[in-house]
Amino acid sequence: MIEDNALFGITETHLCPDESGQFLLNSRVLEPFTLLQRACAKEGLNCDIVSSFRNLTRQLSIWERKWTGELPIRDSSGLVVSPDSLSDIEKINTILTWSALPGASRHHWGTDIDVYDKDAVTRANWQFELIPDEYVGSGPCSSLNHFLNENLQEYGFYRPYATYEGGIAEEPWHISYKPVSQEFEQVFTVQRYHRFLKNLSFSGKESVLANFDAIFERFVLNKGNIN
Ligand SMILES: [Zn+2]
Repeated sequence: MIEDNALFGITETHLCPDESGQFLLNSRVLEPFTLLQRACAKEGLNCDIVSSFRNLTRQLSIWERKWTGELPIRDSSGLVVSPDSLSDIEKINTILTWSALPGASRHHWGTDIDVYDKDAVTRANWQFELIPDEYVGSGPCSSLNHFLNENLQEYGFYRPYATYEGGIAEEPWHISYKPVSQEFEQVFTVQRYHRFLKNLSFSGKESVLANFDAIFERFVLNKGNIN
């Protein structure tokens, strides 16, 4: 049984630090991730963590800063959009293309990790932004991306945001350890999340709750709705 505290990013009891001590991962993900990192290292690739576990407070802060325009918000092709030009529901849909609602981030589970090739980025003296262009062509994480395409599965990982379906943008850096993340997914129901969100205070709450089923389908389940 996964409790609300673990599902929605409130507790850290299901986590442990990674080898560097800088990041927290789900305790059951540390070993498979370390094996994946070693496999990358054999190919001269440094599969390092940009972001792993993120707690509810942090996700709330990202949401609020995007809502107020303190952090830039982008459309699905990565172009910055002015929040003032958008209605509440347009703003919600735009923010959700790149950021999860508080409580609904897969990063709360510790099973999902954003990765990059740290050495390649340093070598290229690259101003890293975590955008898809950095993972293809002459981008510094292109070789890592290619290796992950071929080998992720063998280590139990997959990419939940491999392609843009009208929900969450394509995120080649976001990998998930399926044996554990699917346990979280299975209990993350629309009713359970609605109950949680009703008791949380955040900007845009009224509009989010008024459009809850559509938002859940499109952005939490990430089922496409290109319109
Ligand atoms: Zn991510």
